[in-house]
Amino acid sequence: MAQVKDYSVEEKLASVVKLQKIDSKLDGLQVLKGELPIEVSDLEDEIAGLHARQTRIEEEINGIQQFIEQKKNVIKESGDLIKKYEKQSENVKNNREFEAINKEMEMQTLEVKLAEKHIKDATEEIAEKARALELAKKAVSAKEGNLKAKKDELEKIIAETDKEEKHYNKMAAAARQHVDERLLHSYDRIRKTYRNGLAVVPVERDSCGGCFNAIPPQKQSEIKQHKKIIVCENCGRILVNDELNDAVEVK
Ligand SMILES: [Zn+2]
Repeated sequence: MAQVKDYSVEEKLASVVKLQKIDSKLDGLQVLKGELPIEVSDLEDEIAGLHARQTRIEEEINGIQQFIEQKKNVIKESGDLIKKYEKQSENVKNNREFEAINKEMEMQTLEVKLAEKHIKDATEEIAEKARALELAKKAVSAKEGNLKAKKDELEKIIAETDKEEKHYNKMAAAARQHVDERLLHSYDRIRKTYRNGLAVVPVERDSCGGCFNAIPPQKQSEIKQHKKIIVCENCGRILVNDELNDAVEVK
């Protein structure tokens, strides 16, 4: 566009400030979008972890129940043996045989007592696990509701981000049309240099808004006059006075 060359320095600065503000919005969206997928997958991991915990407790309870069944079998088998020995003891031929049978019966009685103790302990353990399971289930359902809401919210933000990104990309393309070609070239070059993507910065508290290097009063008044484009001696960013910077609004 031919009339671009006729713009005053102030107008040139205002247009590059506008471009900077749009690009900064886009940079902000990139940062936001960059973290959202990680947040979503972190939340999904959390759900999976809670489910795994629930399953583990259920498996532990199953294991203890199997243990109790085994001990019940032990009691039954020992009981059968004791009955058998009782019958045998009625027909013993001598003292030695009687004592041997008696010893076996004592051993089986001990087996029964031990198994009964094991069952009692295991039953208490199950009750404890059942309480833990109940708590885990409550935690899962509370968290799942919470996470579902968060996920929905994040998906909404992603959709919103895409919408905003399209909006600002369109604005940026239009704004670039209005920036003086040489200035645009410098702007793109400086922007690439800095991770925060700031190529145009206001003078704030007598310092460069990009690197915080002090700007002497003489230079500040030159910046205010808008007679030429002034860059920071320290970081090379394009400097504008804060009134001009504040006057440019991007929505
Ligand atoms: Zn600077």
